[in-house]
Amino acid sequence: MTKRIVVIAEHFNGRLVPVTFELLACALEIQRFRQVPISVVILGDRVEDLAHEIAGASGLEVIAIQDPDLITYNGEIYKNILGEVLPELSPVCICIAHTGQGWDFAPGLAVRLGAACITGVERLFEEDGRICFTRAIFGGKLVADFRVASDPTIITVQPGSFKKASFEARTLGSVILRTVSYQSRQSRSLGIKRAKEESSAVTEADVVVSAGKGIGRKENLEIIERLAALFPKSAVAGSRSVCDSKWLDRNRQVGLTGASVNPRLYIAAGISGASQHIAGMRSSGFIVAINTDPNAAIFNVSDVCVVEDLTAFIPVFIEACEKSNA
Ligand SMILES: Cc1cc2nc3c(=O)[nH]c(=O)nc-3n(C[C@H](O)[C@H](O)[C@H](O)COP(=O)(O)OP(=O)(O)OC[C@H]3O[C@@H](n4cnc5c(N)ncnc54)[C@H](O)[C@@H]3O)c2cc1C
Repeated sequence: MTKRIVVIAEHFNGRLVPVTFELLACALEIQRFRQVPISVVILGDRVEDLAHEIAGASGLEVIAIQDPDLITYNGEIYKNILGEVLPELSPVCICIAHTGQGWDFAPGLAVRLGAACITGVERLFEEDGRICFTRAIFGGKLVADFRVASDPTIITVQPGSFKKASFEARTLGSVILRTVSYQSRQSRSLGIKRAKEESSAVTEADVVVSAGKGIGRKENLEIIERLAALFPKSAVAGSRSVCDSKWLDRNRQVGLTGASVNPRLYIAAGISGASQHIAGMRSSGFIVAINTDPNAAIFNVSDVCVVEDLTAFIPVFIEACEKSNA
């Protein structure tokens, strides 16, 4: 049987979640090392249109599995369906989003399939003819590489780690429609609510100056605001720690559970660079980080690394800019 790389598409409220196209990009990278076809699987109560959208954009084969009990996501049903369908596809690797949904079903699915499960994957590479996966550990302070011994491997892919796949599909992909009915016995979904609205001020700014816990106290936000004011179309944002401390409103939070931003310039002041923060800002055009710790993880994704105390550096920087503009 032909082996495959399988992508599990994610959708919400009748629309594909953008990370689905990042999963496809990850699958294309895996395909460089394992030359086998890619198939996409999408589950839901009515997902035929979404399946056609993926097939049209990618030229890939999409298997749409419809179950009337999947009006809202249910991890038990996902594991039951995928546990049965995936072995038919002989997957070498199964790519799932590292989101609340992906975390929920990926490990249990791995147990059912006897697969390795590597979560929070940010990068992959080849060593001695085998694929290795990299993920952050200890809140982003260290990275760890994993190599798996046998197929299949389930990976959950950190949103923002792979640039959305662009396909030059000359032919439309195909859609295979299957209808199943699995009732969940152990849990019942009561619905999914969005935690917050994204702040348009943060998502639409050309320059985002983001404060981390390293600002020390709420009063120091004033320095961050003065820095942002140097740039037209700028906004002040923050890490989750800063928003948890109520120094900034929740709608200013950047990251996995906050806003995803891609301004031309992102300045991270006193932010350690946990993978959950990086997921929301990694695609910014140019990244400057100011941190007293030369080993801070934020420097791994920064174009300019300033190893300084922000309370000393930023006022001097503002003064120099104001003088040069005078
Ligand atoms: C499920 C989940 C979802 C999450 N979602 C998000 C999210 O959406 N967004 C997010 O940001 N986090 C998120 N987090 C939290 C994340 O893991 C980190 O805890 C958080 O990002 C850390 O915030 P921080 O960098 O501001 O603080 P810290 O980790 O405390 O880092 C402070 C940094 O400031 C530096 N510093 C200290 N003093 C100074 C100074 N005077 N000058 C310069 N630098 C200084 C320190 O060296 C350190 O690197 C999430 C976590 C989980 C588990």
